Amino acid sequence: MMAGHPAQPYAVTMTQRFDLHTHSTASDGTLSPAELVARAVEREIDQLALTDHDTTAGLEAARMAAREQGLGLIPGIELSVSWAHQTLHIVGLHIDPGHPAMQAGIARQLDFRRWRAAEIGRRLAKAGIDGAYDGACGYADGDLVGRTHFARYLVEQGHARDLKQVFKRYLVRGKPGHVAGEWATLEQAVGWIRDSGGLAVIAHPARYKLSATRLRQLLGEFGELGGAALEVVSGSHSRDDMLRFGQLSQTWNLAASSGSDYHGPENPYRDIGRLPELPPGCRPIWESDAWARCSEGAS
Ligand code: AMP
Ligand code: MN
Ligand code: MN
Ligand code: MN
Repeated sequence: MMAGHPAQPYAVTMTQRFDLHTHSTASDGTLSPAELVARAVEREIDQLALTDHDTTAGLEAARMAAREQGLGLIPGIELSVSWAHQTLHIVGLHIDPGHPAMQAGIARQLDFRRWRAAEIGRRLAKAGIDGAYDGACGYADGDLVGRTHFARYLVEQGHARDLKQVFKRYLVRGKPGHVAGEWATLEQAVGWIRDSGGLAVIAHPARYKLSATRLRQLLGEFGELGGAALEVVSGSHSRDDMLRFGQLSQTWNLAASSGSDYHGPENPYRDIGRLPELPPGCRPIWESDAWARCSEGAS
């Protein structure tokens, strides 16, 4: 008889519930990292990734809260990337936030954000809206001021009825408060994530409205750079988007990730722990060998 092998080495993870894309007050979410963790526990999530925009400032508080409340916390980030004249978001999972390459990269992104916030304020002032920069800072918890903080202030001041309308009227290309992104390249972002021991995921791919040609180019480049997964299930994806990107993940030999992109309880349509299953045939990122290696390294 041959020596026996364990029959189901991954049986434990099969029953776990994952939310691999969420925000806290460290970027543009409205719950503190500890409140976010509590919400995830309430919603019966087992493994939560905190993926704030261009910052790891919330991870330590999230880690401590998760330890207290018995939740698995995956250190993450959502990096802004300039690619083919538009902005893409790349989620990093299982990153080491202290890694020098990641920290240097983040510092550059935050420098641009600081300049951009002041510039958005100047442009809105020219358009007749005063005090937007200070107003946006008032909505920001740390030193990261994003467009969502401007949007909250503009709603408060009655310039629009909701965040969506602020973006449409003031903050997107062609509108008075728009400033073009000057973010990291795709190569840099994937590089920082991989250098810091993490897995790179293309966030909410349906949101970019890429042509078939551009999408092929992106998936090709991402694969060559060592990208790990597509976010197939996302709070901002329709059922059709999930099926389409589920298929594409298989065609391009990428794993599939799943995340709500939760920003806080103000948006009742997008909650933690209310995600559909990955479509059949997808290879969940949490069942990949790379994931197992990351999890071992983190313990
Ligand atoms: P920033 O990274 O500062 O440019 O801001 C991007 C963030 O703005 C996204 O992560 C969303 O949270 C938010 N956002 C973008 N577009 C919209 C929209 N149309 N309505 C509401 N929020 C939006
Ligand atoms: Mn956001
Ligand atoms: Mn995003
Ligand atoms: Mn996000």
